[in-house]
Amino acid sequence: MSEYIYPVAIIGGGSAGTMAALRTVLNNDETLFFPGTAQDKKRSRALWVAKVENVPGHLGYKKGIEQPNRESLQWLSEGEFKEKFHWKKNTGVTKVTKNADGLFELTDSKDQKWLARYIIIATGVMDVQPIIDGDIEAVFPYANAQTIDYCLRCDGHHVLGKRTAVIGHGNGAAWVAVMLYERYKTPKMSVLTHDKKSEISGDVLELCKKYGIEIIEGEILSVLGKDNGKTLEGFQLAGGTIHECDWAFTSLGMLVYNELAKSLGCELDERGFVIGDAKGMTSVDGVYVAGDLRANTKKQIYTAWDTAVDAGDAINAKLRALSRVTS
Ligand SMILES: Cc1cc2nc3c(=O)[nH]c(=O)nc-3n(C[C@H](O)[C@H](O)[C@H](O)COP(=O)(O)OP(=O)(O)OC[C@H]3O[C@@H](n4cnc5c(N)ncnc54)[C@H](O)[C@@H]3O)c2cc1C
Repeated sequence: MSEYIYPVAIIGGGSAGTMAALRTVLNNDETLFFPGTAQDKKRSRALWVAKVENVPGHLGYKKGIEQPNRESLQWLSEGEFKEKFHWKKNTGVTKVTKNADGLFELTDSKDQKWLARYIIIATGVMDVQPIIDGDIEAVFPYANAQTIDYCLRCDGHHVLGKRTAVIGHGNGAAWVAVMLYERYKTPKMSVLTHDKKSEISGDVLELCKKYGIEIIEGEILSVLGKDNGKTLEGFQLAGGTIHECDWAFTSLGMLVYNELAKSLGCELDERGFVIGDAKGMTSVDGVYVAGDLRANTKKQIYTAWDTAVDAGDAINAKLRALSRVTS
């Protein structure tokens, strides 16, 4: 292991990790940046996001997170702060421990070891996909074309004038249906419970009834549509029924990539998100959390940015305080 102590290491290269790197490097703090392996990236939300319509300035990008992130990282790696930016491309972190001196020992996916004084974990989450006919691939063309969406705040407006179905069996899915109906007065709204029985409770069920939102139990056997996912026509259900719709949302929960935080002993909430204080410091001194992984935040690009800036600035304040007493 190199004995050099990097002031800060950032784990994750999505919206949060990239903003964290911009902040710490522009604060003039030497930064190790691990954006993840190809496999890590494939599991990240950043890779799945196509057009971003709810963040100013993003309309021109086909890949609304990946492209602007790459531009900023490239600029950072070539500009006047480049000596402070150690961009470990296609590299993830497989292990982190805190040693007796309070420093973090990181092992990367190339089996190299590093020492850092502070770390920011921004490894994100992933939306649970419906398993149709044995795997999750049936929805991919539609997810890529965004005729099947995941994020209400990002893409809810897509359902204006559309016959819409929400895939999910719990109150969360029913609330997505209710909210979309109330906002956009969709001509038809249904909840498809797919491979589970409905767990929607009384009061939410009443609201669905009031709005004519049908709760349909029955396994989805296939997704119907054309134009490589650009046109969704509906779902074939068990028993031969075809449920026609123009748009769909999935609401099946999230997988939280909290393994590294958990291994360090960071406190998690009941859903597995990592709890941070006002600046994002976790229950483990020196470990910060940013982005979707952080508990009690909106799962959005601008929230990822804000939590990343909070963490970067808090670390800078601590590094400056340390230099005041050691210099
Ligand atoms: C389909 C879809 C559309 C969306 N559209 C919008 C939108 O229009 N507007 C909006 O504001 N939000 C949108 N979102 C939400 C947005 O994508 C997230 O809020 C945002 O990506 C969160 O950023 P993040 O950095 O926390 O996580 P992610 O973007 O998921 O990034 C996680 C990063 O961690 C890395 N990683 C994982 N494990 C490791 C490891 N062990 N070592 C190193 N790196 C690791 C990955 O490679 C990745 O770089 C959308 C989400 C989805 C799924």
